[in-house]
Amino acid sequence: MSDVAKKSVLVIGAGIVGVSTAYLLQREGLKVTLVDRKGPCSGTSYGNAGAIVDKNSVPGSMPGLWKSVPKMLMDPTGPLTLRWSYLPKIAPWLIRFLMESRQERVDHNARSFRAVSDRAITHWEDLVEQASLQHLIRHVGWLKVYESDESFAGTAQARALMDRFETEYEILDTDELRDLEPNLSRHFKCGLFQRRARFLINPEKMVHGIAEAFKKEGGDIVISDIQSLNIAGEKVTATGTSGTLSADKLVLSTGAWSKNLAGHFGAEIPLDTERGYHMMFDLPEEKSLNRPVVNATKSFVLSPMEMGIRMTSQVEFAGLHKGPDFRRIRKLVPLARKMLPSLDSREKDVWLGYRPSLPDTLPVIGPSPRSDKVIFAFGHAHDGMGMGPTTANIVRDLVLERDPFLPLWPYRATRFG
Ligand SMILES: Cc1cc2nc3c(=O)[nH]c(=O)nc-3n(C[C@H](O)[C@H](O)[C@H](O)COP(=O)(O)OP(=O)(O)OC[C@H]3O[C@@H](n4cnc5c(N)ncnc54)[C@H](O)[C@@H]3O)c2cc1C
Repeated sequence: MSDVAKKSVLVIGAGIVGVSTAYLLQREGLKVTLVDRKGPCSGTSYGNAGAIVDKNSVPGSMPGLWKSVPKMLMDPTGPLTLRWSYLPKIAPWLIRFLMESRQERVDHNARSFRAVSDRAITHWEDLVEQASLQHLIRHVGWLKVYESDESFAGTAQARALMDRFETEYEILDTDELRDLEPNLSRHFKCGLFQRRARFLINPEKMVHGIAEAFKKEGGDIVISDIQSLNIAGEKVTATGTSGTLSADKLVLSTGAWSKNLAGHFGAEIPLDTERGYHMMFDLPEEKSLNRPVVNATKSFVLSPMEMGIRMTSQVEFAGLHKGPDFRRIRKLVPLARKMLPSLDSREKDVWLGYRPSLPDTLPVIGPSPRSDKVIFAFGHAHDGMGMGPTTANIVRDLVLERDPFLPLWPYRATRFG
């Protein structure tokens, strides 16, 4: 065994990014401890829509976006909500986000997003095969549906980027939609279908499954709320509610909660959260959908999970500390019913999650500015479930001092100046 492979590693945060990183490192024979304040999958990886889309090239901030923001904010069922008391806190993030809509930034962000999500499906397939979790992933694609020609025409800019960066998609007419999704309401005019996409039928079970596979390989899981990170001689330490842990390297994968801990290693990162809700409903399989379907006009998704239909919602800016406002997702129930008329719209469960988001849509992946013993791996926003295993591959290569499959400068922690 090489010296590198004898190293010990602390992975802080056990969402999809942390568990897949811990698992890949443990399989290389390193001594890995995975640390979470509540246990695996207690953050955002628990409740998402389960879509794994690769070769993404459409960043969140697009030219002309600012013109539609007021309309979005005024619409009670629109894609965006802002808690006005949070405006002073989020304002710098929003300004940076709008700055990212300049054409040269859009080109850069699209290219870099495309590059880092290029192998999302391949990395997922390798991971589920190694961990014997193939039964939780389906090859069914990712479908967006549009109620009017006008709403579809609104995707022209996004489609132009997808064409330019070779993100595959097909445009479907009403009959083709019906063939794919017989239970979907007939009022949808057309669809945009990404056939390659995969779907996790139970994201929570998947993350727990990877955590179990990690333990089987000999990995340790520790429950501790980490409050500080430090360098002590040759080691890096993490101190929290279960005392101080130390190792040769540390991976910070605490999702939306990474900003303060990253600050201990010299990084001022404009990380905030685009909050999103989910609601669960019962629905027999024969009346359900075959894949996650996005209502593109209202920006919500219906995903046919193995435990029922999951509706996931849009974006709310309200930070990490304000309580949930479930009225927001409840307002969408009539729209979900209109989309899928057989839906039993009695609420089974409701949940709030925190997407870890940076203004340029790109994650932070790579060594911290203060020490290469600490590696950052967070900020995957709307696509972290898909990109978790890719980030894990990159981080494994950094820990093993190998070259990762792509240059990491677009994702560096210091890119915001
Ligand atoms: C409604 C919704 C729908 C979504 N749908 C999709 C989708 O279809 N496809 C997709 O790709 N992505 C989707 N996403 C985004 C995706 O879920 C996230 O990007 C991803 O789960 C982030 O994973 P993570 O591992 O970085 O963070 P998390 O899953 O949040 O994990 C972070 C972990 O760190 C732990 N932690 C935090 N602070 C500390 C600390 N101080 N000490 C110890 N532990 C700590 C937390 O307990 C948590 O377990 C969706 C998100 C939402 C909200």
